[in-house]
Amino acid sequence: MEFELNDEERAFQSACRKFGDRVLRTNERKIDSEGRIPADVLRAMADLGLLAMPVPSEYGGMGASAVLTEIAAEEVGRGDFSMATAVFFLLEAGWGSILARHGSEATKQAVLPAVTSGRAFLGIATTEPTGGSDLHGMHTESRRDGKSFVLRGEKSFVSGVEEAKTLGGGHLTLSKAAGGGFNFLYVPTRSDGITTQRFHNMGRMGISTGSLTYQDARVPEANLVGPEGKGFGVAMEGFMVARTFVSAACIGAAERALETGMAYIRERQAFGAPLGKFEGIQFELVDLWTQVEAVKWQCRRAAWLLDTYTLKGDPSHRSEVERAVASVKLTAPPIAFECVKRVMMWYGAAGYTVDVGLELGLRGIMSYLVGAEGGLNIMRIILGRELLGKEFLPYT
Ligand SMILES: Cc1cc2nc3c(=O)[nH]c(=O)nc-3n(C[C@H](O)[C@H](O)[C@H](O)COP(=O)(O)OP(=O)(O)OC[C@H]3O[C@@H](n4cnc5c(N)ncnc54)[C@H](O)[C@@H]3O)c2cc1C
Repeated sequence: MEFELNDEERAFQSACRKFGDRVLRTNERKIDSEGRIPADVLRAMADLGLLAMPVPSEYGGMGASAVLTEIAAEEVGRGDFSMATAVFFLLEAGWGSILARHGSEATKQAVLPAVTSGRAFLGIATTEPTGGSDLHGMHTESRRDGKSFVLRGEKSFVSGVEEAKTLGGGHLTLSKAAGGGFNFLYVPTRSDGITTQRFHNMGRMGISTGSLTYQDARVPEANLVGPEGKGFGVAMEGFMVARTFVSAACIGAAERALETGMAYIRERQAFGAPLGKFEGIQFELVDLWTQVEAVKWQCRRAAWLLDTYTLKGDPSHRSEVERAVASVKLTAPPIAFECVKRVMMWYGAAGYTVDVGLELGLRGIMSYLVGAEGGLNIMRIILGRELLGKEFLPYT
């Protein structure tokens, strides 16, 4: 068992920390207020290798392990507290790695070099206006027509709809296959028959969320990701990867919140002593730190399991990987939210101001509590299924 980062991992972590401090922290308010990540920030991310970093080098990526990507995700979540950059980072890392593993050579060549260099966006589209948890109940349908698929339906609350339109790129899109099962297709947003609409979110404003409507949008069969009719499992594999990176980003944000809070309670005086001397606050810090530390190692282990089994195509530890990922996605966002909330309270009235900046984190992290990358109850359902068996699923 090895808990130490190796030299490469330590050096990359340190480079990402510096990048987070110099580039992301200094831009986070601008990212939030302007509603986009500036082009020079994306360029700097590409230069450091942070765009779709698990993608193999022949398509412009670093071929990074899930562990190294998890380490970087923590730093991106710590750097841009609004979580917008973390979302951009982890969608491309997670779904880029899935496209690299299951896409056709033609699509990988066409899409991945543009994504890794910041010239295109890659995201995921599964949720529909009628719901995101019950994916078997989706309505969007893809019908084979010769060497193409024709899509009809609507996706909703999809991250990066505007980025994919302006920068270029698209989404790995799950649809019901007219012939049975599910198709998972790379769908470029600028295709004929696709319209987008941006929604008005309360947080992580630097990356758009919105809808994609397909009115007989046609994509070539080369855009299939995984076998025809068998896309559901491929999408679920991608969610395991993306959920691990989401959790890592939340852990980075939680650590930043606690560090901010520790600096404050060392200095701020009340009743003749620094706040940190009072057990009501010191013990809260200790409890939060302990939980963050625990989930951090849980998250790294989830990434290690992905590297060791899932991303090598080895299904032998499926249940263990499912449990590791679902439990970390169930734990990391709420503890990160709690850290930010508590630190805001240590600050008192100042915590409620935009100047202190804690609200950025609160608004961003909340997206993972309400549902992004799967609601918390869905993680509980996965865990219940893995602990008790499929016959205990709350639905048939
Ligand atoms: C900021 C943001 C960005 C997003 N980006 C994307 C994206 O890029 N691509 C994409 O496809 N989707 C995206 N989503 C959507 C996300 O995947 C969904 O929010 C999520 O899957 C839940 O779906 P829903 O919101 O429709 O809630 P519903 O499915 O309607 O569920 C509502 C609530 O009920 C709970 N629930 C559902 N079923 C059960 C059950 N059986 N038992 C107990 N509780 C249950 C859920 O956990 C949730 O809390 C994003 C969401 C947000 C907020």
